Parts: sequence; structure tokens; C-alpha cells
Amino acid sequence: MTTEVPRVTTIRENADSSSANLCRFCGAGLQRTFVDLGMSPLCETYPSAAEFNSGETYYPLHVYVCERCWLVQLQEYESAEKIFTDYAYFSSFSDSWLKHCQKYCNAMKARFDLGKQSFVVEVASNDGYLLQYFVRQEIPVLGIEPAANVARVAVEKGVPSPVRFFGAEFARELVGQGRSADLVLGNNVLAQVPDLNDFVEGLKILLKPEGVITLEFPHLLRLIELNEFDTIYHEHFSYFSLINTLNLMEAHGLRVFDVEELKSHGGSLRVYACRVESQTHAPQPNVQKVLADERAAKLDRVEGYEGFAKQCQEAKLALVEFLLGAKRAGKSVAGYGAPGKSATLLHYCGVGKDLIEYTVDRSPYKQGRFLPGNHIPIHHPDRIRQTRPDYVVILPWNLKDEIMGQLQFIREWGGRFVVPIPNLLVD
Ligand SMILES: [Zn+2]
Repeated sequence: MTTEVPRVTTIRENADSSSANLCRFCGAGLQRTFVDLGMSPLCETYPSAAEFNSGETYYPLHVYVCERCWLVQLQEYESAEKIFTDYAYFSSFSDSWLKHCQKYCNAMKARFDLGKQSFVVEVASNDGYLLQYFVRQEIPVLGIEPAANVARVAVEKGVPSPVRFFGAEFARELVGQGRSADLVLGNNVLAQVPDLNDFVEGLKILLKPEGVITLEFPHLLRLIELNEFDTIYHEHFSYFSLINTLNLMEAHGLRVFDVEELKSHGGSLRVYACRVESQTHAPQPNVQKVLADERAAKLDRVEGYEGFAKQCQEAKLALVEFLLGAKRAGKSVAGYGAPGKSATLLHYCGVGKDLIEYTVDRSPYKQGRFLPGNHIPIHHPDRIRQTRPDYVVILPWNLKDEIMGQLQFIREWGGRFVVPIPNLLVD
């Protein structure tokens, strides 16, 4: 593959990651701040009223960019074990996401000729939301899922799901049992991996000689362009461009042969990789296209990362000014949704229940609980009709069209929508 981007395909030895602030991939020292969003609690914890007296731990959201390999990253302030072993997020709760997955399974079956003789492995397979579609086509699968409560649901769907964290060691165990894979996939897991090198090495070990890896993750280019700073949270240790992904893959003897740009999660990439020595997977032109877009945005230089902190601050000032103005004018303000990203947004902006009185969410798990840190109460969506707020702040901005459609009734009392990202919108 030809590209003008200087490649970093070596990992520095003797990097002591336990003490210094070093790049999780290449081991270089991290000096350059991408953005410092202050302190925030873990975003997927929703305390109940009974837990108010036990206190909550806040961690820094200080994001660095590695000037050697361009990996954007947070330190691992809280261990992945603690964050992910009793995870509250069940993938199957979103209809549009399930459709996306079903489409993916059909496309992979056709493109790579998968059948009864094939073996598909998903890393961080959650509740079997995706692999169930391969199971229905009688393609043998294995899910690997560290959260026991979630894996149990997958097993009920006929998706074998050992409760494990994935890495080189587990990959060797599987290969030792003769279970090499034709397709290994990871959706929205790469960002959550503390030991990136061990994880990617594991992917390669598990792969048959002509097998394929697909990975989906939010695209750093979109995060910057669309000011999606609230997608930065402690569960996401790393933020990927195609430039830094190529570095990572090549360091482990893998070759990226295709990439697709997806609309999911505010703009994602789906990367296709195979072993370097594979002869069957020809490089597709979209790889060069996305690389060219990233170079145009200067993601191969410091300049591409310099303006982001200012952008975040502008969004904060606009939201806080609006909320203070609404409060002074005696207006009532409610939120809609309690997504993980609302923790980053509201803590960075210093917004509590004095400015947003409550929020609502369709997930029964969250109703009756509170947002972490600021303790904004989470109610059933009916609360909006009952209290008729003047403004509804849409916290999952990526679903704003869907939510505004569902909540058109707030117009009956002159209610208006507020969308805080990318720029404040009051509609
Ligand atoms: Zn690096």
C-alpha cells in the first residue's frame, strides 16, 4: 500500500506504562493535550437515591494526542475490569442498531462466502445482538463477553459466550483447540481496550491465513469536525483515525484492505484487515480516499489537533449562557435521554439540576435513578407531557431527528427543543 503518511509500526520496548504518561500503542511520552474536559464520574453508573450518601469518584478527562503515532487517548484511570464486568448497556435495546447488524451479517456472508464450514468470532459480543443473525443462517459462532450478566442473555439466544476479556492468551487457547476464525469482528470495542497491542495481536493469532477482521469505531475525524466532545468518556481509552489504525495494524502484521464510512455513533469507520501475507484481499480505493480526507484535515500533523479545545469551550459557553438566560426568564428546562455521553457534557459545562430540572429515558433500568455526579433525576418520558417544560434539551444529539419527531406534542404549549452539539440549536 502506498501512502505519504509516515508510519509508526514499531512499538517501543521497555516502556513502563505503570508510572509515566506513555502512548498506549507506541510507548512514546505524551506531552500534547488534545483537550482537558476536567473531572467527571464514570458515565455508565446511575446511582439510586439510597446510594447518595456513599459518594462518587471523579476522574480526569484529560485527553492527549501522541505526536509519534497520532493516537488520541485517555489514561486508564479506572480499570477495564471494574468498568465492564457489570455493564448496564444492552445492545439489543436499539432497533436501528439491530437493523445495522443484520445488514452487516448478510453483507459479510455474501462477500466472504461464509457458511456451515465457517467460524465467526465476535469480541465484546454483548447480549448476542449481532451473532444471532449468523446463528439463524447456521454459521458457527463464538461470542466473547466480559460482563457475565450480559453474556447470560446471549447464551439464551443460542450464542455461546465465554465470560472473558480478549487478548493474545485467550486467542492462543482457542487456536490450540483448533478454533481459528474466518471472520473476527469487534464493534465499538477497540476504544475500550486498555492493552491495545495485546488485543490486536490476539486478533491476528485467532485469524485463519485468509481470514478477515472487521472493526467498527467512531471516526476521530468526525469527532473533531462535528465537535462531538461528549463522546469522550472514561470507558473510551482511545480515539481512532485511519492513520493511527494503519499504524496499529501494521505493527502486528495486519494489512487494512478496505474501509467504509458509516453514519452510526455520529460517524464511524468499518475497517477490514487481513494478514500481511494474504493474497486474496485486494486493496480497495476507499482506503486512499479516507486517508486523503484525514490528511486534508491535517490529522498527520499537530495542527489538526490544535483547535479542538477552543471548539469545546465555545459549545460550553453557548449552552451555559442559554440555560442561565432561561432560568433568569423564569422558564422551565427538562432534558431528554440519559446517555453515557451526557455525563461528560454536563460535568464539563458545570450544569446541575438547578439548570436542568430532570431528564427522561425510555430504559426502565434508568428510570427512578439519577445521572452520575449531578444527581439530575431520570423519569419516565410521560413526565414531559405532565410538566410541560418550556425547553427540552436533547442529550443524545445523534438521535435528535427521531426524538424531535416523537416529542412534537411539546409545540402544543409552545415548548422548544435545545440541541447542545455541535453548536447550540434552539428550535
Ligand atoms: Zn503513540
